[in-house]
Amino acid sequence: MAVKNVAADQERRDQALTACCMAAVAESDPVLAPARRSRLLMDCLAVLRAAHQPERAAQIRMKEFRKGLRGPLGPLLPPASGRPDRFDSMELFDAQGLARDAVKDLCSEHLVPLAALEQHWSWPRVRAEQDEQRLFGFMRRLAPEDYRHARTLLGRHAAGSVRELSRQWDRLWMRFDFFESVADWPWCQVDGWWYPCPVCRWPMRAVRSGPQFDVRCEAHAPRGVHYRYTPSGGPGPGELIGTGKAAVPVTPLPASADHLAVSRPVWRYGTLPVLLELQLRDAVVDLPYVELVMWPGEQRPDEYDLHITVAVPGKRVRHWRVDAKAWESVVALGAALTNRPALRKGLTIVLPDHQQSEQHFLAAQVRDRGVKVTTVSRLVSDIEKACGVVR
Ligand SMILES: [Zn+2]
Repeated sequence: MAVKNVAADQERRDQALTACCMAAVAESDPVLAPARRSRLLMDCLAVLRAAHQPERAAQIRMKEFRKGLRGPLGPLLPPASGRPDRFDSMELFDAQGLARDAVKDLCSEHLVPLAALEQHWSWPRVRAEQDEQRLFGFMRRLAPEDYRHARTLLGRHAAGSVRELSRQWDRLWMRFDFFESVADWPWCQVDGWWYPCPVCRWPMRAVRSGPQFDVRCEAHAPRGVHYRYTPSGGPGPGELIGTGKAAVPVTPLPASADHLAVSRPVWRYGTLPVLLELQLRDAVVDLPYVELVMWPGEQRPDEYDLHITVAVPGKRVRHWRVDAKAWESVVALGAALTNRPALRKGLTIVLPDHQQSEQHFLAAQVRDRGVKVTTVSRLVSDIEKACGVVR
């Protein structure tokens, strides 16, 4: 057992060291764009934090991290429990503030193999969770009215031309910095054009298939949002033909720098759940005896998004406190929810209908926390039953 603990401690120390080395390389790379650098540093910080016990992890902020990188590494590393090593006193930068040549060697020697690192904390997931937290941080600082408005905008205006977006986001435009240029996203471009999903407005993915392209929304393809694109051979956009049942005609937009879309994590954890919530609201808002409050949790916006009450005279009042989730991986969602310290008892997690087959897997993971899991259609049908509506 003790041997195993020593090995686990060593692995955590290696993980922290890896994060520090990669951050030092990013800090000293002169050609790295500032936005990319700050993202890499956030990734590194998250990996470093994951190597520490939770109380210590919470104390390491970006400022301390960057300062710590410029001194002996000891304060940034979890304690060594095996034989002493040289890393506590090691410095990654020289007196001129340049990363030592040894850092790259150190990186390759002590780099925790990616597979091992991913057991703890996969890089894409770290990135995604950080952006999700950053989004919630932004939302939390808004006044209640702005907060509700921002939720709607996330659902309805997640991509488009700068002109249109700045008009729609209006007074929130300058404060919301989660947009990226579609021109930087080659995966959604065909012949210099991109196609917004008719459901979420976010760019659809274009994948070459022989002389043509399959164009589909990653989230809404299961609902039938997929197309086939044939290049025109000329300067204009080619022909886009719907191949799914929800593939209504969409207009091509130029993949230019003045077309923006929210970052992938913001689309995944901001836009998609809002669309589920709006879908749910539209389905039940006109039912008899239903009272519905959208995004009530101003204090803690991530706690629940929708409070539905059904008060049929003479019957027990029913409540649903709903949190919609549109994660690609229900397994990762389960892990994230299990790690969340304050999960509200009595919460109902709602998944998109196409994840119905995975619903039970997630339900089993959160059942002992008093949390239920369902899909949009199932919840609508439960609410209809509670109202006495028979379909
Ligand atoms: Zn979509």
